Amino acid sequence: MKQLRNNVIRAGLGALYLSGAHHLLRPLLSGVGAIFMLHHVRPAREAAFQPNRHLEVTPDFLRATLCHLRSRDIDIVSMDELHERLVQGRFDRRFAAFTLDDGYRDNLDYALPVLREFDAPLAVYVTSDFADGTGRLWWTALEAVIAKAEQIDIQIGNSALRLDATSVAAKQAAFDRLHDWLRALPGEQDLAREIGALCRTHGVDMEAQCRGLCLSWAELKSFAADPLVTIGAHSISHCNLAKQTEDIAAQEMAASRARIEQVLERPVLHLAYPYGDRDAAGAREFALAASAGFKTAVTTRPGMLSLNGNYQDARILPVLTSGAATAMWNGFRRIAAA
Ligand SMILES: [Zn+2]
Repeated sequence: MKQLRNNVIRAGLGALYLSGAHHLLRPLLSGVGAIFMLHHVRPAREAAFQPNRHLEVTPDFLRATLCHLRSRDIDIVSMDELHERLVQGRFDRRFAAFTLDDGYRDNLDYALPVLREFDAPLAVYVTSDFADGTGRLWWTALEAVIAKAEQIDIQIGNSALRLDATSVAAKQAAFDRLHDWLRALPGEQDLAREIGALCRTHGVDMEAQCRGLCLSWAELKSFAADPLVTIGAHSISHCNLAKQTEDIAAQEMAASRARIEQVLERPVLHLAYPYGDRDAAGAREFALAASAGFKTAVTTRPGMLSLNGNYQDARILPVLTSGAATAMWNGFRRIAAA
């Protein structure tokens, strides 16, 4: 139960930053609107070891969510429209926006067709290194390493560790250990070095994985031409912006935006912070996003809803749309106890 609540807290609630309109957050929290955050949308996979499963939902679950919103007469709006309604204080109707992080090909293959059934807009936040095919999807690489391995030898600080990976439970424990370690490393260089070494040792090709999973620029171009689709920025390298110097953090935002604008030939006005939690996006990052001219910048903090692949249960849908954050908390507690 603690695990369930932690997952719901981490991925289930988030914040919305609006340029020059922080105070307008309040209506979102009191049940006027919601932003759904997704990553992968694709058919369920067979493998027992799926440590990143919270980052994916099936097309059927997405469809059920949209049906539910429609049944509640909730408008599904683009990020531009959401921004406009918040800035103008138009809260006569409830509304929701769908956002997908990272720029995965399954967003085009599986999410778009479902959203089209409902004429529902979506925003896809693109990491430019991922579209280049050179990105570091280190959490996916780590899953592949551990899926293949029987054991993992690793030097963490001064201690040499040997992690068992012979069973699903052992693999999950190894993943949790290494995931926490990698996320806590001081710099992107350290993360690149360590995940690179693991991939080399265990024969995982991180670039092939990136090209296999992520939309290329050419694909993004046709994706972006769909009137339902908004492309937003999600940094260049998917680094933790709060850990970078101010110059680098500003550059990550501005350069990723410029790159997308140059390729897609349309303005990029929306940003999602990589990771988006309290340790990855704070006051400095909010100010940088504002001065970079983004209309909205979304985090994973209160105000933003996530569709968590571990909880694809239609019983949570009324909770997701029930409005107030407190009601959601109560709702999740009720479900956890049921
Ligand atoms: Zn991301």
